[in-house]
Amino acid sequence: MNTAPARNLDRSSATAAPFDVESVRADFPILSRTVHGKPLAFLDSGASAQKPRAVIDAVSRCYEAEYANIHRGVYELSARSTEAYEGARARVQRFVNARSANEIVFTKGATEAINLVATSWGGVFLGEGDEVVLSVLEHHANIVPWQLLRERTGIVLKVVPTNERGDFLVDAYEALVGPRTRLVALTHVSNALGTVTPVDEIVRIARERGALVLLDGAQGIVHYPVDVQAMDVDFYCFSGHKLYGPSGIGVLYGRQALLAAMPPYQGGGDMIERVTFERTTFAPPPARFEAGTPPIAAAVGLHAAIDYVASFDPAAVAAHENDLLTYATERLTAHNDIRLYGTVPGKASIISFTMDDVHPHDIGTILDLAGVAVRVGHHCAQPLMDHFDIAGTVRASFGLYNTRADVDRLIDGLDEVREIFG
Ligand code: PLP
Repeated sequence: MNTAPARNLDRSSATAAPFDVESVRADFPILSRTVHGKPLAFLDSGASAQKPRAVIDAVSRCYEAEYANIHRGVYELSARSTEAYEGARARVQRFVNARSANEIVFTKGATEAINLVATSWGGVFLGEGDEVVLSVLEHHANIVPWQLLRERTGIVLKVVPTNERGDFLVDAYEALVGPRTRLVALTHVSNALGTVTPVDEIVRIARERGALVLLDGAQGIVHYPVDVQAMDVDFYCFSGHKLYGPSGIGVLYGRQALLAAMPPYQGGGDMIERVTFERTTFAPPPARFEAGTPPIAAAVGLHAAIDYVASFDPAAVAAHENDLLTYATERLTAHNDIRLYGTVPGKASIISFTMDDVHPHDIGTILDLAGVAVRVGHHCAQPLMDHFDIAGTVRASFGLYNTRADVDRLIDGLDEVREIFG
């Protein structure tokens, strides 16, 4: 495993160190199993990544040796568990370079983080006629919470369009951000196409008009170093399970002053200062937003996942993932019955395609029988599918552990599809 003490934003200038994918693969026990009698070619990390031994062991160790409920206990185990949970928060803070651990709120995932912002911040600071700018590239998780808020408050949603390549159109965005825009809520990386949005320009334009910026980093943080201060975003969110960590935990980063001004999202234990039947006062952030017993073991697992990811040279990871993307693109486009969706240069290692006259679900089923796991369908991005006038695509998404051999298996599987449907 390579070591990279600091993650840095500028991947392009770094020299790629050798990346030993076979040793990475050995870290992931599930990759040695078979599916339908075939070795597993797992090409669905964009939906949820597999877990390295370090994460599995950290979660097991938590339950075997250190588990108790946190914060309220006076006994040793509870103190240890609290330390582990808060240690995970501090690890996330360093990973995204937040100013303070108090800016890190644990949620169930990216979806809950966006719902939290829409409900709590949006519910108080947005009113009728205020505008939120989204894009057609968004996952439903960054569309529906704003529609729910629109029903409650009468806000207006503006949607940045895209083109045939799946670009984020900066000019169209600039034209949509107006004096009533209070927030731009945009994806960092499109889960369906791999398009990387131009964060610098997004933030510059929002700032010029006095709007806040929320970035949905569910896909972005997996492929790119994230520095919330350098990016100058107000909110950034992601899910642990896509970052090689456990499911059931995610992160909302929010600027301290914003979080401090936001009301609770849910009520219950651990988020209060003092409760009487007449009146309750609330704990400061982040506890204010973490009602009830949190996902303690999942936080410990997320800590281990971040340590794991951060142990690689980001430039080497980028080179590895780009190689897979380039190779898969070349092999897929050698067939003229394949149509790619999302062809913006510099995109992340996510490749979406359709095959003439074969439904994506049929392709996915045949690939599964060949041991190749891909995602098929609308990828929770129905407006984007509508833009392309398709019901869905086949999506292969690459992670640390994928190889060119996995791509070859995909291509061979597509030959089987052609034989069956040909
Ligand atoms: N945003 C993007 C871009 C995603 O890809 C996903 C999941 O696929 C989500 C949000 C929602 O993540 P989760 O289901 O982990 O909350």
